[in-house]
Amino acid sequence: MPILLNPVETAAGETRVAASPETVKKFTALGCRVVLERGAGQPSGYLDQAYAEAGAELVTRGDSSAWTQADVLLCVQSPSTQALSQLRRGALVVGLLAPYANAELAAGLQQAGLSAMALELLPRISRAQSADALSSQANIAGYKSVLLASAALDRYFPMLMTAAGTVQPARVVILGAGVAGLQAVATARRLGAVVYVSDIRPAVKEQVESLGARFIDPPEMEDKPAESGGYAKQASDAFLAAQRQQLSDQLAEADVAICTAQVPGRRAPRLISEDMLDRMRPGAVVVDLAVAQGGNCADTVASKTVDRNGVKLIGANDLPCTVPNHASAMYARNLLALLQPTLKDGQLTLDSEDELIAGCLISQDGTIRRGDVLTPGAN
Ligand code: NAD
Repeated sequence: MPILLNPVETAAGETRVAASPETVKKFTALGCRVVLERGAGQPSGYLDQAYAEAGAELVTRGDSSAWTQADVLLCVQSPSTQALSQLRRGALVVGLLAPYANAELAAGLQQAGLSAMALELLPRISRAQSADALSSQANIAGYKSVLLASAALDRYFPMLMTAAGTVQPARVVILGAGVAGLQAVATARRLGAVVYVSDIRPAVKEQVESLGARFIDPPEMEDKPAESGGYAKQASDAFLAAQRQQLSDQLAEADVAICTAQVPGRRAPRLISEDMLDRMRPGAVVVDLAVAQGGNCADTVASKTVDRNGVKLIGANDLPCTVPNHASAMYARNLLALLQPTLKDGQLTLDSEDELIAGCLISQDGTIRRGDVLTPGAN
């Protein structure tokens, strides 16, 4: 009977949890024993009692026998290398493990002889959708980014006709129309804003327009960035310069900019320069979801709001952690969807030939399988 351990998350500011009472119940029905460190769900509003009623066994935080017996460690972020070394050789770690150029993680997995699945590397095939944690969390980030912007803005979002006159709707520019960007479009539209969207993948134009926003066509250039596996590839410096030129006038008229443009494993493209910020009106708000990857906007600082000549720059790197109950509920379902097919007849079997598993299985029993991603400079 596989033993699944859900520890208390230790990364600073992490409020999510990898298992919910709902998924504990389902894992138990699939023949697993779920062991949970007491208090693991508390920051996201799931109490120990609810886990116990769902069938989890509760242990104290850091209980070494729980760590040595576990077959699978369910986590949001990777525990420290030292904590990982307590697991038995051959145990499996599943989570958002931040694999890109993460030599420390690679060394930790190798030394402890562990297997590990990094959810960031799940291939974008339709079978993987229910396990896609990047999407479930990006959705939340996109939604919350607009709420933060609307709360910080010195204007209304919707158009209003009042006895005191007509109020024009806010003008929102969204950079990047992936999962977070499209949810930001939908949320800003629901609040009544006029929305403009920039993305380098022409495929998103139709999706953007179907949500009632206007698409800013990417600059007409020979060296357009390519796309692979649903993700954008890195754009050239010349392309990004042309794009900034194009966006400058849009931003000068904007009340809000929401930055979500990313390229997996790379520094985020710099789309808003200091000169562009100088042209934005005082009172405008920029929310930068890419701040942890270097930022789409100049001068944004992770987890901080900077006032730059009256323009508020919000460095929003941890938005899913501000909606921890639903973020955890969805994340926990993602993990269940990923592991369910591997659990048969009370056994956990990883088929490393399966495209879905092969993509995200970064290590197997301590042998690194995705050195192309984990090694600095290799991606
Ligand atoms: P992401 O977070 O890597 O990037 C966000 C967006 O930024 C992307 O749309 C990208 O094109 C855009 N971008 C990159 N450089 C830019 C630039 N210079 N200017 C403007 N925009 C730029 O992407 P994501 O949100 O994870 O998803 C990307 C796509 O994958 C989406 O279309 C999504 O629908 C698709 N997807 C497919 C599946 C699946 O089929 N299983 C699952 C999830 C997402």
